[in-house]
Amino acid sequence: MPSPESTTRAFEERYGRRPDGVWSAPGRVNLIGEHTDYNDGLVFPFAIERRTWAAVGRRDDRMLTVHSGAMPEPAQASLDELGPERFEGWSAYVFGVVWAMEQRGVSLEGRTGFDIMLTSDVPLGAGLSSSAAIECAVALALNDEWDLGLTRRELIYICQLAENGAVGAPTGNMDQTASLMGEEGHGVLIDVRAETADPVALHFADEGLELLVIDTRVHHEHATGGYGARRRSCEDGAAAMGVPSLRDLTEDDLPRAQETLDDETFRRVKHVVTENARVARTAEVVAAEGPRAIGDLLVASHASMRDDFEISVAELDLAVETALANGAVGARMTGGGFGGAAIALIEATAVEAMTAAIEAAFAEAGLTAPIIFVVNPSAGARRDA
Ligand code: ADP
Ligand code: MG
Repeated sequence: MPSPESTTRAFEERYGRRPDGVWSAPGRVNLIGEHTDYNDGLVFPFAIERRTWAAVGRRDDRMLTVHSGAMPEPAQASLDELGPERFEGWSAYVFGVVWAMEQRGVSLEGRTGFDIMLTSDVPLGAGLSSSAAIECAVALALNDEWDLGLTRRELIYICQLAENGAVGAPTGNMDQTASLMGEEGHGVLIDVRAETADPVALHFADEGLELLVIDTRVHHEHATGGYGARRRSCEDGAAAMGVPSLRDLTEDDLPRAQETLDDETFRRVKHVVTENARVARTAEVVAAEGPRAIGDLLVASHASMRDDFEISVAELDLAVETALANGAVGARMTGGGFGGAAIALIEATAVEAMTAAIEAAFAEAGLTAPIIFVVNPSAGARRDA
């Protein structure tokens, strides 16, 4: 597992000098609130212990060089020619942050470049947001190195712009917010419209619970297209209902939505409206009654994604059903859908038995063995050395 020390050593091996410092940012798991972030709504993720580290050292010229332990080849760019069309592959996540800083008003004039070494134990493309981890680690490092004094809120928007504008993924900013604002033992209750991100204690460990991630390893090719299609349905639904975004609707508006919208758009809208309500309720309930009381909300969220938003797949449904049949407090698919991971809130004493039960269910159904592991609500992005 990488660490600040091993990242420093890797930097020294690549660049033959010591880095100026090491910064890191975590991946995240979304506890509840799916496809609500781009609808100006509520989301409740938490940062996890898996992180991406960035060892960074200033250069004398205007070049940016980046090596990643996850990639065979390094990438290079000049501060004088940054633009989304110039970024290839994974380097867009790094150079895109610098480009986004400039887009949002940071002058690159007179600045010098950097050498960067990245290490990570966030699995890539598994729905734990390795993309936000890499963006946020780099953004925080450059904010310090260039002495920009940008707030974490501004860094959220910069990293989101990198992902939207440089990488080209039309995502909201849940991932970046969780990565930059996470706190140990806490979830981050995000209100996208109000631009707030409040820590809420989750007390999983205090209550003898663990949060299990079941990565189905299923990645449907239409995932990106499906995400875009859901986004358009939400925009269409809001327009037809005469509101700027679905955040402006409550459950009281659903009868009118059902009369106004076609059946499919209605179900998309219903998911977002009810999911916002479930997120708010989850944060209230976990604070008032503890995490054992949120199980039904997780289960209702899954049903809504399966039946109304239609972003679940057989593997995710099987993971959730098996977890619940084996005594989970609650379970749901998490992330954008069309594959990826499910989560299950379970007794800490049941981790082994639950893992075995889910593995057996997948084997019996003739499905690829899932990767199952525990995550803990952990600290957000920070300087480590
Ligand atoms: P997720 O965020 O769920 O892991 P994404 O598709 O959004 O999945 O982002 C994964 C991509 O981010 C990778 O394919 C790679 O291009 C880039 N990436 C993430 N972490 C790293 C890393 N440590 N080194 C290089 N590229 C990375
Ligand atoms: Mg991502």
